[in-house]
Amino acid sequence: MSQDPYELLGVGRDADADTIKKAYRRLARQLHPDVNPDPESQERFKQVTAAYEVLSDPDKRAAYDRGGDPFGGGFGGQGAGFSFTDIMDAFFGGNAGAAGGGRGPRPRVRRGQDALIRIEVELAEAAFGVSRELKVDTAVRCTTCGGEGAAPGSHPVPCETCRGAGEVAHVQRSFLGEIRTLRPCAACRGFGSVIPDPCRECAGDGRVRSRRTLTVKIPAGVDNGTRVQLSEQGEVGPGGGPAGDLYVEIHVAPHEVFERHGNDLHCTVSVPMTAAALGTTITLPTLEADLDPGEESGVETSFELQIPSGTQSGHQVVLRGRGVPGLRGGRGDLAVTIGVDTPARLDPRQEELLRELAAIRGEERPTGDVRPTHKSMFGRLRDAFTAH
Ligand SMILES: [Zn+2]
Ligand SMILES: [Zn+2]
Repeated sequence: MSQDPYELLGVGRDADADTIKKAYRRLARQLHPDVNPDPESQERFKQVTAAYEVLSDPDKRAAYDRGGDPFGGGFGGQGAGFSFTDIMDAFFGGNAGAAGGGRGPRPRVRRGQDALIRIEVELAEAAFGVSRELKVDTAVRCTTCGGEGAAPGSHPVPCETCRGAGEVAHVQRSFLGEIRTLRPCAACRGFGSVIPDPCRECAGDGRVRSRRTLTVKIPAGVDNGTRVQLSEQGEVGPGGGPAGDLYVEIHVAPHEVFERHGNDLHCTVSVPMTAAALGTTITLPTLEADLDPGEESGVETSFELQIPSGTQSGHQVVLRGRGVPGLRGGRGDLAVTIGVDTPARLDPRQEELLRELAAIRGEERPTGDVRPTHKSMFGRLRDAFTAH
């Protein structure tokens, strides 16, 4: 009979660890003495196991590949260091160690689940924070039984079927002998105790549904999808167990002027052609104005924006620190894009003036300034970063 461990396991010399393990498991299932008691199978089982011991150990395998004697003086039965778990794995496909391990009764009192509610806030509320009253509908501890689940004056009693263990033993006969496994007790559903007289308010669950009003503080800087966590305001657990957390998910309503990009705000302001040419000052509302702070608060509700003479349509002005406060401090910018309105209806006098202006500027027959689109875009970006 071959002494080559690769041949014994029927794998190639380049087989990886997984292939070797699978080959061994397959052979072990055929040859294990409990399955196949004839002496020849027992001898092959020893050889195959010894071969696996060599090939599953990178050092021993490398030594054999270099030409060493893999078995250190012949087959000596199962070598030391060969783990029993591997044999059990061969039969049960892993996790042999976990089979049948007792866990004891499962607790009646468990932590509750987290809850999630969504609320819509205005952009200014998201930016500067707000307090909101919320109606939340969650499980709360039953006040009738205090969460115990037993009618007043009674208590849970130990389960007679499993004597409080929560588990009962099942014995199965197999080729390996008797296999004893523990299963949850059906009489007490694994709790180890039963409630002979359940609370009528909560039907023994220890909790009831209730609608509460909570005040939640939304911190400054939240955005769409931000979740504010309120510890232990979620669902109370079974048996009146500690409540999970409540998550308040923020949805920010669209604003009629400002569009939010991260912590920056964007808006567009249109000015007449003449104002863009001559320069002007316009008044812009601040986001703080939405909070209606009142005159004495000192909060700036508007500010002046200088439009320099010769401003082009599409020019962007970036105002540092007039955006949305960040959740971790700092504040974004406000980017104002200037649009230039070209007069659409001219009376005879206006037309006359414009024609005169065109004549003075030599613009009666303009040829147009043709250039690639991307170049003008870069121009705008450059303008945006150099302003202020
Ligand atoms: Zn109750
Ligand atoms: Zn039981």
